Amino acid sequence: MVSCTSQHCDINVYDEEARLATLASYCILDTPPDTAFDEITELASLICDTPIAVINFVGRNRQWFKSEKGLGVKETPLNISICAHVLLQSELFIIPDTSQDPRFVHNPLVTGKPFVRFYAGTPLKSPGGLPLGTLCVLDHRPRELTEIQRVALSTLANQVMRNLELIRVQQAQSGLIQQLQSAQQELTHLAATDPLTGLYNRRAFEERLSQEHALIQRGQSPAALMMMDLDYFKVINDDFGHKAGDRVIEHFAQVCRNVFRQSDLIGRWGGEEFVVLLPDTTESEAWQAAERLHQVLRQTRIEYDEQISLSITVSIGLFSLSKDRELEEAMRLADTLLYQAKDNGRNCTVCADFRETY
Ligand code: GH3
Ligand code: MG
Ligand code: MG
Repeated sequence: MVSCTSQHCDINVYDEEARLATLASYCILDTPPDTAFDEITELASLICDTPIAVINFVGRNRQWFKSEKGLGVKETPLNISICAHVLLQSELFIIPDTSQDPRFVHNPLVTGKPFVRFYAGTPLKSPGGLPLGTLCVLDHRPRELTEIQRVALSTLANQVMRNLELIRVQQAQSGLIQQLQSAQQELTHLAATDPLTGLYNRRAFEERLSQEHALIQRGQSPAALMMMDLDYFKVINDDFGHKAGDRVIEHFAQVCRNVFRQSDLIGRWGGEEFVVLLPDTTESEAWQAAERLHQVLRQTRIEYDEQISLSITVSIGLFSLSKDRELEEAMRLADTLLYQAKDNGRNCTVCADFRETY
């Protein structure tokens, strides 16, 4: 608790830690200059007719000036601060002549630059009544304030606090907006993602596919499209359980991520069917990628548990998504080629134009 022991002051008792916590909650210390505060110091100096006006906040060890006119200092240590005395006042604190006041006559701000002779400061109080700093005017000569100047200084101090509250509300608002934006991003991501594999789900893939198709219609180079279906997948479910099947699907998705380029779009079309869109890729280049996929699958075993280790193969239909192919027709072709790959004995890729098989 802080209290004033001097007989000169009107005692204001407060909890210093609570005061510092309240000040910290405004996040005002060390912020850049702000015209909203500079205009208040300008007005204070004009109305009170003083060369110096200051808005400061009193931290644990220093007083920091949010705005100052005619002082040229950003902060001072607390032990020489005149303003720190104001925190103990319930209202306006005036020293008509510092050279006549035993509390301040030896203060370095009085004996040296800026040679303060007159001081009038009003506390800046939080809504809970805790003093956070002061609005003060200073002069190099002894003097007084008129009643109007006193009222104006108190009114301006209220304006300072209103600005501070406004900043806090704005900060809270922008924090909420950020939270909302990241929640929206997360939702958008979830809405586009297949939960088991983390790949694009069918709806999101179709959306990206139709965008790519539109770009190709407008002259972008053709893409390649692959429709893939795991072979004899039902047997895995039947023999080892649905969980093992899920593990295989996850594994296949990871293999695809490794085999295809970052710029390729991989989606889970449904069940054990997957699609890959390879932008700016010819059918023969895509065929090589499909071949890599067959090879990797052939070389890997999926360790489901200590007893069960599985291997899978995939059948692929592959064609070029070019300008002259409508999307619906393209998807029908994808199905046709995939069925041909199944008919050819599975574990192979059938291309639309080359009729190549693996
Ligand atoms: P084919 O070689 O002709 O493609 O035979 P297949 O067994 O792979 O095809 P089929 O269509 O007969 O069976 C696919 C199975 O995939 C049936 C379905 O229960 C299973 N399945 C679909 N989605 C999931 C899934 O998310 N997890 C698991 N574990 N199984 C799934
Ligand atoms: Mg299938
Ligand atoms: Mg299948």
